[in-house]
Amino acid sequence: MMFYTHGLLDRADHLRKSEAKQAELFNAPGAKLVPVWQGKSLVGEDQAGIPHMLTLPANTAPSDKHQKIFLGLVESSPMFAISVSNADESSLAEWSTIAAQHHTDSQKVRFDDLRVVGPALCASDGALMAYARGMIYWHDTCRFCSRCGGELHSTNGGHIKLCSTDDCQHHTFPRTDPAVIMLIKHMATSESPALCLLGRNKNWPPGVFSTLAGFVEVGESLEQAVQREVYEEANITTENVQYVASQPWPFPRSIMLGFEATATSTEITCDPDELEDAQWFTVEQLKTFGTWGDERCEFQLPRTDSIARFLIDRWINEQS
Ligand SMILES: [Zn+2]
Repeated sequence: MMFYTHGLLDRADHLRKSEAKQAELFNAPGAKLVPVWQGKSLVGEDQAGIPHMLTLPANTAPSDKHQKIFLGLVESSPMFAISVSNADESSLAEWSTIAAQHHTDSQKVRFDDLRVVGPALCASDGALMAYARGMIYWHDTCRFCSRCGGELHSTNGGHIKLCSTDDCQHHTFPRTDPAVIMLIKHMATSESPALCLLGRNKNWPPGVFSTLAGFVEVGESLEQAVQREVYEEANITTENVQYVASQPWPFPRSIMLGFEATATSTEITCDPDELEDAQWFTVEQLKTFGTWGDERCEFQLPRTDSIARFLIDRWINEQS
């Protein structure tokens, strides 16, 4: 299963609609909270220093004034994301203290960024933290009606915001931005082995190369977005665009739609606004790459929790 997707989560949409049902779930003995503070999630570490998600029993919440969002059921436990973004330092410390009391095996209890700890988490923790982070991001940033500017209030377990202006009552739903991400391959010829095209963004650590990606524009198909982005960023033309897999990517609110396509040209010209560099690599070269952040290696592959890495590993496996 793709990282940041959860195999055991039941989103239980039918339980969102009734406020009485939501209150009942929140007060159920197994109910758990996933607090998010300014994009950061509550984590601890085991003896070996491996991070994991920390939840709080719902009935131990130090305050009930924070927005909560019903995430669904995990093995029949109701799970709620809770936004503590407005909490001051002392009440924030209170959340960490209560978490530490309920997870006595955990060390270094803190709010930390999923971007930092993500690759080291187990998949189910990563998925729930990603879902909570995405919903809280939406809650914290979508504050006024886009139609009339009126105040919004949360309904349906936090999955709909309803405009409070009487003659508007516009419904606003959580939004996810579609982005295509693609492995561009060049087939082996009598003169050249099979190659794949990877590029790098100037903001990444030195040596990191990854698949190209970009947002889908209004009025284009996903296949067109793949071909346009690759042409814009690297001046490479492509054909035979094939869907592979998708991944929610909560940084802050994308769905990554993964493709493979075959190059029909080889001469790379980078758009310097998009890419610092792009190169063709052989499978032998890729096998010598380290992973993102491993500075001992001159070249590095993307994070292990990313669909970019999935697409690259898949291509490497297909060549051997
Ligand atoms: Zn409105």
